[in-house]
Amino acid sequence: MNKKDYYEVLGVSKDASDEEIKRAFRVLAKKYHPDVNKEPGAAEKFKEIGEAYQVLSDKTKREQYDRFGHQAFANGANGGAGFDMGDIDLDDILSSIFGGGFSGGFGGFSDAFSGFGRSNRKTRAARGEDLLMKITLTFEEAIYGCKKDIRVSVYDECDDCHGVGGHGEEKCHTCGGLGIVREEQRSLFGIMQTQKTCPTCRGTGKTFKEVCSTCHGEGRVKKNKTLSVNVPAGVSTGSQLRLSGKGGAGVNGGANGDLYLEFTVLEHKYFERQDDDIYLEVPITITDAILGCKKEIPTLDGNGYIEIKPGVQNYTKLKLKGKGVKGINSKTPGDMYVVLNIIMPTKLTKKQKDLLEELRETDLESEPEFKEFNKSLK
Ligand SMILES: [Zn+2]
Ligand SMILES: [Zn+2]
Repeated sequence: MNKKDYYEVLGVSKDASDEEIKRAFRVLAKKYHPDVNKEPGAAEKFKEIGEAYQVLSDKTKREQYDRFGHQAFANGANGGAGFDMGDIDLDDILSSIFGGGFSGGFGGFSDAFSGFGRSNRKTRAARGEDLLMKITLTFEEAIYGCKKDIRVSVYDECDDCHGVGGHGEEKCHTCGGLGIVREEQRSLFGIMQTQKTCPTCRGTGKTFKEVCSTCHGEGRVKKNKTLSVNVPAGVSTGSQLRLSGKGGAGVNGGANGDLYLEFTVLEHKYFERQDDDIYLEVPITITDAILGCKKEIPTLDGNGYIEIKPGVQNYTKLKLKGKGVKGINSKTPGDMYVVLNIIMPTKLTKKQKDLLEELRETDLESEPEFKEFNKSLK
């Protein structure tokens, strides 16, 4: 098929802005809509306009078209994104452009257009909603991963009608089950036949003796569900987990939406997490600081030991490589930092006092700081 250039179809230049393209489409769609324009060829023209607009209004598709022309969307190419009317959702395009103002704003067209919209809406497969749920985890649950049962309220298939929306299915009387109706029109070129979606069954070919009272014909209802979720190890506050297909049920065979879990992690009494690193403040005595020692400390994987060198200063930070958290997107775990907090004793026993008095008698002023300070005295 020899296709016309999309820019020509809309009557715009190759460097037309999005706004110009939209304006051109708006004018032409109004002129050629088949519900409004009964001239021969109008439907074809409308289809052509819709197709051109769908490509040129989409940044990615427009770029592909600019590079490869119609070849970009040939059947089979591009993951089979060939265009025929089935792929083009004019209802979407029109409502995106004209919005709610369309039916109101065009006087005489309003009936034709709202009818057009309605005939498409219900039969169209629509994806279910995406949902976001906030989950609070303890520090340990976030670090080690856990299993959580969560309660969600989501749209799911209606049990009463098994998702079809009614009871007592019968063939649509208007279209005889075809889902489409033909209209004949006389024109200069003879009798023209056009097809449109059956307004009674909205294209499904079926109607129901009774609309389902549980879901009011929607085919789905809100249900409370309990989902068992495996929270991976290493999540942090703000991390999101996507549970594909666990959101709202799709409509008319559309895919289910996704459920996103967003985590908030509670603080730990001793450990503090900074990204993949873990900080732990450890109190030590003055004698351990002066003489050095081996000290037992908690780590994320059980107790461990740190070596404290003699004469260590307050707030010295010791690094334990790889003893941090392995984040969900990290290849290697972070590090653990032990911060020493030398505690000055405030309540001493008689014996401790005596020992310290004895210590005072010795010369502890060999450090350079003392020599420097003593110079300031006159
Ligand atoms: Zn139902
Ligand atoms: Zn019908």
